[in-house]
Amino acid sequence: MTISDKTRKLLWGRSGNRCAFCRSELIMDATPQDNESVVGDECQIISSKPNGPRYDPEFQPEDFDSYSNLILLCRVHHKMIDDQPETFTSDILRQLKANHERWVADALDFATLSDDLFSISSYGDSFQKVKKSMPELIKKMKDDLSKKGNEFIREFYIIGKSWVMNVKEPCFVYFFDDHDNLQGKIHVLENYGFLIDVTPWETKKYRMTEEFVDLLLTS
Ligand SMILES: [Zn+2]
Repeated sequence: MTISDKTRKLLWGRSGNRCAFCRSELIMDATPQDNESVVGDECQIISSKPNGPRYDPEFQPEDFDSYSNLILLCRVHHKMIDDQPETFTSDILRQLKANHERWVADALDFATLSDDLFSISSYGDSFQKVKKSMPELIKKMKDDLSKKGNEFIREFYIIGKSWVMNVKEPCFVYFFDDHDNLQGKIHVLENYGFLIDVTPWETKKYRMTEEFVDLLLTS
């Protein structure tokens, strides 16, 4: 008997490509010189060999390579369970497999949920809105942040081009002359929590939050 394609897909899929014992990954990445390496074994819980581990003469021969009699393990743990069949009984192995498959399903559910939470989060959603409603300002901010040497700049002034200003600290400047209703746009960004008003005296100054910077740089 051989393991069917369907059984193999079920086993690898539900195990999340990980050893049911140590949870290590069972496919090693390819290197520039070599292909991927598969280090996982599809192990029989009840051996089909009469002198093999956990052999049971009552067991139906057609079930040896069925999904319920297989557990996916790394090479080390395959050897361990077959060397220590009195410790790793068939009941224990089935329980181990069931727990592992539940762990994989729960981990993926959680990951999907986190993605959903992020995409419906006010930050992600609001950013899409402002990107649509004020594309030039968002693009300008992104360009400014992306320039070499500007990685750590978070603050900016909003001023008129004719204003005389002597800015010494590293910061950006946005001009009323370049953006329609710049102050209104800034207020919207501030209301969404993307900016913090850090005006020192009279000239309006704002600081971008890290979440906003991340969204700008990855947009
Ligand atoms: Zn293992």
